[in-house]
Amino acid sequence: MFKGILIEKDDAGYRANLAEIDEAQLPDGDVTVAVQYSTLNYKDGLAITGKGPVVRKFPMVPGIDLVGTVEASSNPDYRVGDAVVLNGWGVGEGHWGGLAQKARLKGDWLVPLPTGFTPKQAMSIGTAGYTAMLCVMALERHGVTPDKGEVLVTGANGGVGSVAVAVLARLGYTVVASTGRPAEAEYLKKLGAAEIIDRAQFSEPGRPLGKERWAGAVDSVGSHTLANVCATTRYRGTVAACGLAQGMDLPATVAPFILRGVTLAGVDSVMCPRPDRLEAWARLARDLDPALLELITHEIGLAAAIPTAAELLAGKVRGRIVVDVNR
Ligand code: NDP
Repeated sequence: MFKGILIEKDDAGYRANLAEIDEAQLPDGDVTVAVQYSTLNYKDGLAITGKGPVVRKFPMVPGIDLVGTVEASSNPDYRVGDAVVLNGWGVGEGHWGGLAQKARLKGDWLVPLPTGFTPKQAMSIGTAGYTAMLCVMALERHGVTPDKGEVLVTGANGGVGSVAVAVLARLGYTVVASTGRPAEAEYLKKLGAAEIIDRAQFSEPGRPLGKERWAGAVDSVGSHTLANVCATTRYRGTVAACGLAQGMDLPATVAPFILRGVTLAGVDSVMCPRPDRLEAWARLARDLDPALLELITHEIGLAAAIPTAAELLAGKVRGRIVVDVNR
């Protein structure tokens, strides 16, 4: 038996509880992992609370991230004792995930624990941080270099936002952090933000084009925010869009794209091909100051993941949550 969070949905309703789970119930897979840490991402918040249609099969163990050691393997790439990381691939949505003491997975989904990180640090980064890095890589691919001007990060106090601010600042960009929590300005400055702005200026319906300001942007918010960010992006700038914290809609016009040559670069971490994942993790080892992970991260035990999921969706969590599944 092992401990895990189990989401059930039946006539009694949708619920998540800490449960004792029989190992015989683990799903198919060629690698069994003794999990050390998982995390809470926005998507885990949706899964645990049932506020978004994330879970596709019941019962489900949530948790789109995990780090741990291989306990059994019939996959030639992994041996007992190997330290491994998993992010995405539909785990915690359609296949049992990381918010449990054990997981059984496809070896092809795993990556070795990236050199330079402890298991806990890898989860401090987690899907949110690795997605932030994919966004930075998207900006670079489209020619957004530090000399081009200011870059904007929306949802700056969130998981994706915090890591994006830290990485971009370390790379020499002038980072403007947009947030609804001005009280966290000191935190954002410590991560490297040059200026903090109120997210309210992006939240409402705006004009097709505004004054050009951003050479690039990382947006984890979507909806009117993304539309307004595109409308204020400079000629030939790029916006990397990865999230929907404000909403899934995009009430925009084509004006920024056809009149200013703005690029809207979509970023997905879930099905992201393995070479790009490995590159993102290697870049994180180089371009993220590990000392900042302490500041970004808050650690909780497994049972606390359930109430904390609701706090995360309410925008009350700063940075990243690491879950020690063995406490
Ligand atoms: P968090 O909850 O940690 O951060 C979201 C942040 O968005 C909040 O901290 C808040 O920042 C801001 N925010 C929340 N509600 C609103 C609102 N109504 N209007 C404007 N801003 C708001 O989530 P994550 O960082 O884990 O994820 C962020 C988004 O990115 C989510 O939508 C998530 O689903 C998506 N995502 C997508 C991935 C992909 O593969 N494409 C991978 C990972 C995440 P502040 O308080 O500073 O304003």
